Amino acid sequence: MKQKQTSPVLQRLAESYARLVLAVGQHDADYVDAFYGPPEWKQEAEKEKLPLDAIKRRASAILAELRTVSPARMDEMSGRRHQYLTKQLQALVTRVNMLQGTTYTFDEESRSLYDAVAPTYTEEHFQETLRELDKLLPGSGPVSDRYSAYKDRHTIQTTQLDRVFQAALAESRKRTAAWIDLPAEEKLTVEYVRGKSWSGYNWYKGAFTSLIQVNTDLPIAIDRAVDLASHEGYPGHHVYNVLLEKHLVRERHWLEFSVYPLFSPQSLIAEGTANYGIEMAFPAAERVEFERKVLFPLAGLDPSGAEKYYQVHTIFQKLAYAGNEAARKYCDGLIGRDEAIRWLTEYALMAPARAEQRTRFFDELRSYVINYNLGEDLVRRFVESQGGTPEDPVKRWGEFTKLLKSPRVPSGLVRQTASANQRPAF
Ligand SMILES: [Zn+2]
Repeated sequence: MKQKQTSPVLQRLAESYARLVLAVGQHDADYVDAFYGPPEWKQEAEKEKLPLDAIKRRASAILAELRTVSPARMDEMSGRRHQYLTKQLQALVTRVNMLQGTTYTFDEESRSLYDAVAPTYTEEHFQETLRELDKLLPGSGPVSDRYSAYKDRHTIQTTQLDRVFQAALAESRKRTAAWIDLPAEEKLTVEYVRGKSWSGYNWYKGAFTSLIQVNTDLPIAIDRAVDLASHEGYPGHHVYNVLLEKHLVRERHWLEFSVYPLFSPQSLIAEGTANYGIEMAFPAAERVEFERKVLFPLAGLDPSGAEKYYQVHTIFQKLAYAGNEAARKYCDGLIGRDEAIRWLTEYALMAPARAEQRTRFFDELRSYVINYNLGEDLVRRFVESQGGTPEDPVKRWGEFTKLLKSPRVPSGLVRQTASANQRPAF
């Protein structure tokens, strides 16, 4: 059988793409989320300060050349790389258009930047979930008030925050390392910060190290400990970046993976795998047990309430798309800040201060919000369509790990999911 070859052209185009990402970073401080590649690339981008129009011309030239090389003649990984570069470059052009003043609707923007469009839900859809919570939550009055009061009673005492968070991180790491081969030198540090629009952030520094920042502006409820530890750390962002560095940057010398443009399809994969990673590391029953035995006592909470708390939490998660609806209406100018805050308090059950913080996230990152919940759903459907169901953890972690360490784009995941589901069952 004739061996399929990796294209040397692709290697050159990939480097041009990576340099172009750094060039956009000269105009947009949020664009380059991580870079640990050759320092001279960055120095050149700073020196050259390529104007936006010139960036677009170069992007078009790379895209045109990409079209001349056929992924069908490449091995599977190179084919994926070709698709990845194409989608990332198309998103780069969209971002440059936005920097030049082009406005897109929320859905147009998410399709162009993140290669996906979130489904639309009406208020009735969320009301059904609110009725379920109404039955479960103690007290009387509006569900949003009772939910806020219930969450307030499950806040981690400030003095215990670091101990709780470190315990959640250690457990997430242990559970992930049981399935994924992590380099011995991987390392993660935690910092507590204030005055941000997000609640947690992973800054990947290269050399298998991450800095996680946790925002302490608002009280932190107990569920955030495991959520943040798994999402930002293990097997979420930190592990994703570690595997890309290990398998693509170091082993294959695919240096374009040493730069991560925030407003790109890669973000949907990153946020989707990070969110799905929470239930990978902590299947529901195991999570309740760990919370009851370890985290609730550490946080100064009554462990007997852990089971009920996660019953409420599971139902609450069905409201995740309410945040997208608020963002879509707000970004499309159909509602103002006050109405967005009302939507978020009523349907996403956020306390008013949290909802206000979220609208500032909408201002900064707009359609980025879809990457979390739609990303999680796309990743879950994909992993399960490949046989990685919760009943088969070996296959599940295997598929998840393969996804983390190869170039992927959201529309490609959707296509593969659909074709796997059409295969006849034996
Ligand atoms: Zn994230």
